[in-house]
Amino acid sequence: MDAVLKLAKLGDKAEIFHTLQGEGVSMGVPSVFIRSSLCNLHCSWCDTAYTWNWEGTPWSHEDDEKYQKQDYIVTHSAKEVAETVKQYPCKNVILTGGEPLLQQEGWTGLIKSLRATDPSYRFEVETNGTQLPDAFMSEAVDQWNVSTKLSNSGNNEKLRIKDDAMQFFAAQENAWFKFVVQSAEDLAEVQELEARFSLPKERILLMPEGRDEVTLQKRRLWLADICRDQGYRFSDRLHIQLWGAKRGV
Ligand code: SF4
Repeated sequence: MDAVLKLAKLGDKAEIFHTLQGEGVSMGVPSVFIRSSLCNLHCSWCDTAYTWNWEGTPWSHEDDEKYQKQDYIVTHSAKEVAETVKQYPCKNVILTGGEPLLQQEGWTGLIKSLRATDPSYRFEVETNGTQLPDAFMSEAVDQWNVSTKLSNSGNNEKLRIKDDAMQFFAAQENAWFKFVVQSAEDLAEVQELEARFSLPKERILLMPEGRDEVTLQKRRLWLADICRDQGYRFSDRLHIQLWGAKRGV
């Protein structure tokens, strides 16, 4: 049987869209995003809480809004998703979520299907860094965008820091580490993780937390100074600048 993917539902379709990568080291690169549903973390400021904050669950979120699971998930076979992706004139594909590495079998089917059509398809995975990729994904993925969560996310450390997964990503030359920063006090945690897992400084990005332009503008000014002074790369949130918090763009 063909592997399946549980994807975020937008209208009556899966949330698959052609846009510019908004964050991280590939910011600005034309890309097709595939947004999977489900996440093992519950960040209080998550901008895709409709992938996990279901009605009846105890998790809290700044927005104080719960979602009916059946209205926000759509299931497709990997081949169906590949057919949708092929319609776009773009070979950079970003597997995002939620937490995409909860569905590795489905992504394996998708990657094989797309590369059978055209070997030049390139895949980035946006992960929270808690899940260990399997052998196929380890080889097949071109770029890991690892967003390890800090305590400002509201998740306890046991949930958000997994040594085996962090050690795996730290050893990959195609892994980049993007930390979401709310205040200058978060820097001590970044430095602790950098030392603990020997993360290469040149592949660490600091990105201001914010789901609107006013918040981002306040935070990017002091965060840019920190990045310059301490040698970290700065990441903005281009999609918020361009389109605000709108889904599917
Ligand atoms: S890990 Fe990502 S998708 Fe999951 S709750 Fe946190 S921000 Fe949202």
